[in-house]
Amino acid sequence: LITFEGVQKSYDGETLVVKDLNLTIRQGEFVTLLGPSGSGKTTCLMMLAGFEVPTSGDIFLREQRLNSVPPHKRNFGMVFQNYALFPHMTVEENIRYPLKTRKMPTAEADRKVARILDMIQLRDFAKRRPTQLSGGQQQRVALARSLVFEPQLVLMDEPLGALDKQLREQMQLEIKHLHERLGLTVVFVTHDQSEALTMSDRVAVFNDGVIQQIDTPSNLYEHPSNAFVAQFIGENN
Ligand code: ATP
Repeated sequence: LITFEGVQKSYDGETLVVKDLNLTIRQGEFVTLLGPSGSGKTTCLMMLAGFEVPTSGDIFLREQRLNSVPPHKRNFGMVFQNYALFPHMTVEENIRYPLKTRKMPTAEADRKVARILDMIQLRDFAKRRPTQLSGGQQQRVALARSLVFEPQLVLMDEPLGALDKQLREQMQLEIKHLHERLGLTVVFVTHDQSEALTMSDRVAVFNDGVIQQIDTPSNLYEHPSNAFVAQFIGENN
């Protein structure tokens, strides 16, 4: 579905924070970009989303070269750590917003919003405003908002970073469940090894702007390709 071909990124014209990145993400796959702080994960996600442009190389969506396609034309769902809900809108209005901007007819939008509210167990909270919800509930609203227009790809950058451990684990299961149930393609960014290993079909381990290894969780664990991967995957496990 997505291909990075020789993608590089420099913000200052000197240092490459992403170096010669080659990566293919298949339809329906859950791929996690894992690595320490500053290793280039978010930069990759921002280039995929269209908020940053590669300094060189290309990103393709199927056969379409994405480099000059603006973010709003890419039709990707996005969830970030600081969920950024609209504070003056109710839960329902927040979730409906992407359908409104896409000018979807009201009846169809009503159906889609009701369906996602049910799926993510927020129906009872539909009329509340974000400030009247817990952090976990707010993150569920952000998730619902990113999924309601049935995006071809969902990008998540540390979406669970602000949650406590128990809620984090619960949300991991919920996201995984939605991925399977809706057949979503997900690109997920985290620096948490155990989160990456439990959630992903494949994990790309980043260090210093380079993918050290991309593999299934069990292969990474059992057959790390170098000392960095072995140490990083081994931490906290
Ligand atoms: P983190 O987990 O801390 O977010 P990351 O792996 O996602 O880290 P990036 O955010 O992609 O890493 O950052 C990679 C490098 O690029 C870092 O050295 C960072 O300081 C730099 N960088 C990121 N965004 C910008 C920007 N907008 N302008 C200049 N430098 C940037």
